[in-house]
Amino acid sequence: MKDRFGREITYLRVSVTRRCNLNCVYCGKADCEKKETELAPAVIERLVRAFVACGIRKVRITGGEPLVRADVCEIIARLRAIDGVETLALTTNGVLLAQSAAALKQAGLDSVNISLDSTDGSTYRHLTGADVLERVLAGIEAAQTVGLFPIKVNAVLMKGVNSDGAGALIDLAKTRSIDVRFIELMPFSDAGETASLLVTGAELLRRFPFLTPIESEAGTAKYYTGPGFLGRVGLINPITEKFCADCSRIRLLADGRVKPCLGDETVYDLTPYLDDAPALQREAARCILQKPAGHQFESRAAAHGLNETGG
Ligand code: SAM
Repeated sequence: MKDRFGREITYLRVSVTRRCNLNCVYCGKADCEKKETELAPAVIERLVRAFVACGIRKVRITGGEPLVRADVCEIIARLRAIDGVETLALTTNGVLLAQSAAALKQAGLDSVNISLDSTDGSTYRHLTGADVLERVLAGIEAAQTVGLFPIKVNAVLMKGVNSDGAGALIDLAKTRSIDVRFIELMPFSDAGETASLLVTGAELLRRFPFLTPIESEAGTAKYYTGPGFLGRVGLINPITEKFCADCSRIRLLADGRVKPCLGDETVYDLTPYLDDAPALQREAARCILQKPAGHQFESRAAAHGLNETGG
């Protein structure tokens, strides 16, 4: 269905936990205690069904780190069984991916985005607080082996922190048939002062002049290729090229509240309607209609880290 601004809302991002096994500097504090607020797979299914009845076609499971949930495959299987879910994707830091890729595929997952901000071990450890780069690289390998497709690697660059490693990340798209996408750093509460750290998409195009634009599917990323590249390089520029007018997303938080816009603090609690399917669908539609015109990152930071919001 369309929101008040005529945008077709077709994409639901579902945070299944606030917990995370990493502690990335720009994201949010790892939250190890909130397991009791997580929704059961059957409840997540009920909520997603309400949104699918409102026109959602693509669902992405995220968090926190979704793979820390032991029942993530049950969640995937339940969402896969919903008529109308055309694409089922997952975003992960990849730490637990090598051991779970086959089961995720078996449960019905289509594709995976893996967050990787550096291919240098010590920079990775500095950014995430964990010495697990090799496990993430093995996770990417495993995802390819079991046939999850497409595979996208997402990186956030920060000046003086990991921006020197952009070339090595781009090399992943050169040598493998995966997309490597750079997301501009957004000002979430835990990210601190982000303006001076921001590496813009335009800067990357100046630094890597061999990147040439290619036809991109509708979405947030603009895609580029380079000589002999097997994969693509994507630029996602929420700060310098606000794409809110084309936003098709809505977010379900790990506790059953709905956040229609990543950059707006308004949330709607759907848990009082869980036992009443028509009311749940009505409230889901209301959330879509309440989606604001766009984020206000230019003027203020979001109050919560992405770990909490669901990245
Ligand atoms: N744990 C999963 C992961 O690491 O992909 C899913 C959740 S994580 C919050 C999702 C994505 O949000 C990651 O790719 C991370 O880099 C991104 N992210 C977190 N804080 C950000 C910020 N301040 N600006 C831009 N992206 C951010």
